[in-house]
Amino acid sequence: MPDEDALRKLREERLRRTVDLCVTAHPFYRRRFRELGIGTGDIRTLDDLQKLPLVDKSDYMACPEDFRLRAADAPGLSFEESTLWNVAYTTGTTSGMPSPFFNTAHDQYHIMMQALHCSEAEGVTRGDLIANLIPLPPMPMGAFLCVGRTAEIMGLPVVNALTGAKSKEYPVRRGMDDAIDCVAAAAPSVFWGVPSFVRSFFRRARERNTRFPRARMVVLTGEPVSAALQEELAGHLRAFGSEDPQVRVRYSFTEMQGGLIQCCNGAAPQNLAPDLYYLETVDPETGICVPEGEEGALVLTHLHRRGTVCLRYLVGDLVGIRNERCPHCGRLGERIIQRPRRTGTLVKVKGMLINPELIFEALSANRAISEFQLVVRKIDPADPDSMDQLVLRIEAEMGARARLAEEIPGLIQKTVMVRPEVVFAGPGEIHDPMKSVKVKRLVDERSH
Ligand SMILES: [Zn+2]
Repeated sequence: MPDEDALRKLREERLRRTVDLCVTAHPFYRRRFRELGIGTGDIRTLDDLQKLPLVDKSDYMACPEDFRLRAADAPGLSFEESTLWNVAYTTGTTSGMPSPFFNTAHDQYHIMMQALHCSEAEGVTRGDLIANLIPLPPMPMGAFLCVGRTAEIMGLPVVNALTGAKSKEYPVRRGMDDAIDCVAAAAPSVFWGVPSFVRSFFRRARERNTRFPRARMVVLTGEPVSAALQEELAGHLRAFGSEDPQVRVRYSFTEMQGGLIQCCNGAAPQNLAPDLYYLETVDPETGICVPEGEEGALVLTHLHRRGTVCLRYLVGDLVGIRNERCPHCGRLGERIIQRPRRTGTLVKVKGMLINPELIFEALSANRAISEFQLVVRKIDPADPDSMDQLVLRIEAEMGARARLAEEIPGLIQKTVMVRPEVVFAGPGEIHDPMKSVKVKRLVDERSH
């Protein structure tokens, strides 16, 4: 286990190399550094990073290719460092299109090691069999890729549920009952998925008296998880026969390929790849770090990547972090001591980041629609752990309703990748101009 000084030395060596590469071969930073008059000599230590302005998702999404190192411009890169391995996509979209996140072979090998350290710390071990319950996404997404990568590096078998919206053209996805049968036949011990879906999966499995005799752990990613839901999932594991059920919640985002993890039930999520990622909490206006432990905007710096590279990237959450060894396992790396709160205009629905403005644009363009409102809520309002639901309230003439009900869900799905329910409202129900000037376009009824 490295000590603090050795880790800091390694992080700063890697940071210097990364900054050198950005100055010569990263279109976005090359431009930005020139504008600011920053040269390679200015950023030598982690503390020097505060000289760099923050970038956010909109900078990256405006031109993801500009955040990719140009291997041809970077002298001395190895074959692994300059060869593309794969592309993950982020769902957070400002343009409507997903943004690519490029991994070179060098990146892939390092995130495989990251996956190994994370899953070992979570308590996954030889003899486990992983059930991948992440629905098959419409593009390669970090959460889905991470499960396969983990199974590979840990040498474990994995059974993929491959659930998701059915498609006539691509009949590759399974319905719930089929997925349950398929997964049960493999007798998994670790269930990995998005919390609200894992819960539906377990509830349906129990209705059908499906047996998971080796079930012992749930690994959750993509959504916040309440204490009540963690307790419910532990209860399902117990009902399947686990004597000591384990629930791990990951705090993850594409830019950190695997995210922060818990080493035991209830632990603070920790960055277990501190040699790859540096985390800060800052005042988002000034970019200056807040005192350790206080709430600030989470900022990520890639220390050792060669595909997509971000320096001082605003993740979009407010958190408190501490730089200290984990009191449970003694590992080093930033620990999130305060539950993340999301900032900004993007809204997370069913684990996907969506931009409500795109929906508003699409609806405003439709003349048959006189008023509209977007509502994000839980399917069961009394149950904060039930699945998210996107509801579009639309005011339109009777004669147009059937057509709109047919067209709008598909149109919105194409725009933000989440399919809404459409409900029609009578005149004045969405917006009464007598009562208020502005229409409330977005209503988030969820408590978190
Ligand atoms: Zn720990």
